Amino acid sequence: MILKIKHLTTVLIFLSGYYFLFVSYQNIIIEKNTYHDFSTKSESNQDSNIVKNINLQKNKKQTIIKNDLNKVNVIEEINNLQEIVFEVKKNQTFSKIVSKYLSSDKVLFNVVNEIEKTFDLRKLKAGIKIHFFQDQASKKLVKIIIPIENEIDLEVFIAEDVTVEKRNLKTKLENHSKEYLITNSLYSDGIKNNIPIEILIKLIKLYSFDLDFQRDIRKDSKVSISYDSKNIEDRNQQFFGDINYALIIIEKNKLEYFKFKTDEGFIDYFNKKGENVKKSILKTPIDGAKLSSTFGVRKHPILGYNKMHRGVDFAATKGTPVFAGGNGTIEFAGKNGGYGNYIRIRHNNEYKTAYAHLSRFKKGISKGVRVNQGHVIGYVGSSGRSTGPHLHYEIIYQNEQINPFTLKLPAGKKLKGKELERFISEMKTIYANHLNLLYE
Ligand SMILES: [Zn+2]
Repeated sequence: MILKIKHLTTVLIFLSGYYFLFVSYQNIIIEKNTYHDFSTKSESNQDSNIVKNINLQKNKKQTIIKNDLNKVNVIEEINNLQEIVFEVKKNQTFSKIVSKYLSSDKVLFNVVNEIEKTFDLRKLKAGIKIHFFQDQASKKLVKIIIPIENEIDLEVFIAEDVTVEKRNLKTKLENHSKEYLITNSLYSDGIKNNIPIEILIKLIKLYSFDLDFQRDIRKDSKVSISYDSKNIEDRNQQFFGDINYALIIIEKNKLEYFKFKTDEGFIDYFNKKGENVKKSILKTPIDGAKLSSTFGVRKHPILGYNKMHRGVDFAATKGTPVFAGGNGTIEFAGKNGGYGNYIRIRHNNEYKTAYAHLSRFKKGISKGVRVNQGHVIGYVGSSGRSTGPHLHYEIIYQNEQINPFTLKLPAGKKLKGKELERFISEMKTIYANHLNLLYE
C-alpha cells in the first residue's frame, strides 16, 4: 500500500512537471508569435503562411544602398511591400518554395545561383522562417530575407540583377538576476518567477552532482541565480546563454557556483574555493529511480541463499535512461551472463563503473567509445538474472567492487595558482553584478 502511494506521488510529480513544461512551452510560443505581431493567420492556406502589409521605410533605404544607380528609381517607387513569412517544412527545397513567388525560371535560376555563392541552400532547416517581400501593386518579389544563423540574415534583392548580402543583426547582451524561495519545486517555482526553461534545465543539470531533486529540496529552500541573454533586436528574438552564478540554500547547506573559463578553454562551474562542481563519478547514474538494494551480504532474490551483493540496485521502469557515471571509455558493452546486457566504463587507472540488466544500449555505445559523465549509455531493463526492471550499478576501484555510498569520491578539478587568482577576481565581479541587479 505504502509503495502504491509512493508510486502515485511519483506519477503526480512527473505529471505536474510535464504540465509546467507544457504551460511554459505554450508561453514561449505565444511570445514568439507576439514578436511578429501577426494577428491573422490564414488557415485555409496549406502552407500556413503569414501575410502582412507593411510600410517599409527601412527596406527602401537598404535597397538604395545595395543597388547601383540605374536601379534606384525602380526600387524607390516601392514603398508598400507585402511581407509573407514562410516557415520551411521538412523536405521542402528552397527552389520549390521560392518558385511560386517568381514569374520565370530564369529569375529563379538567378536567385538560387546568387544565394548559393554565399550560402549552401541544402543547409536550410525545417522551421526556418523565410520572409518574402512583394511589391503590392505589381506582386513582384523584390526581396527575400533568410535567417541563416542566430545573428545573421541573408538578404536577397531582386531587381534586374539579383544581389545577395549577409547582414549581421544588432544584438544586445543582457544580464538577469533572480531570487526565489521554493514552495513547490525548483522547476515550477522557477517558471513562476519568470526564469526561462532553458536556464532552469541548466540549473538542474548544474546541481545534479550535489542534489537529489526529489529528496533534498525542501520547502523554503532559497534559489539565487544570474544568467545572460542575447537579444536580437532586428528580429525581436531572445536567446538565453549561460548561468553566471547560482546559489541554492537548503537549510544550512549552501551550494554556490560561479561560471569560469579554465586555462584549457572550458566553461565550467566552481565553488568559492575553486573546486569544480563535477564529482568524478556519479553515485546515482539514473534520474528519479529508487534505491532498492544496497551493497553487502543479502539473501539473493533468485538464488535464495546469502550472497554478497557487489553493487547497488535502483528500481526504475523499463526504458529509463542510464547515464555514464563519469568521463571514460567503454571497456565492455554486450551480454555478460547473469548481468544480462552489461556496460563497463573505464574512467581512469583506478576507477571503473558497471551497469547491468539493461534492456538495450544507446545507439553508438560499443567497446572503445569515449563517453562523458551524464551522457545516456543505455536503458533500464531486466535482462540476465533479474526479478524485475532495475539498474544494477557497480563502482569498481582497483578491480574490486566497492560500496558507492560509503566511498568518498575524488572531486573534479581544483583551481590552483594563477588560474585560481584569475577565478577569484572574476568570481568577485560576477557576484557584485548579481547583487547590483537584484537590489538596484
Ligand atoms: Zn544488483
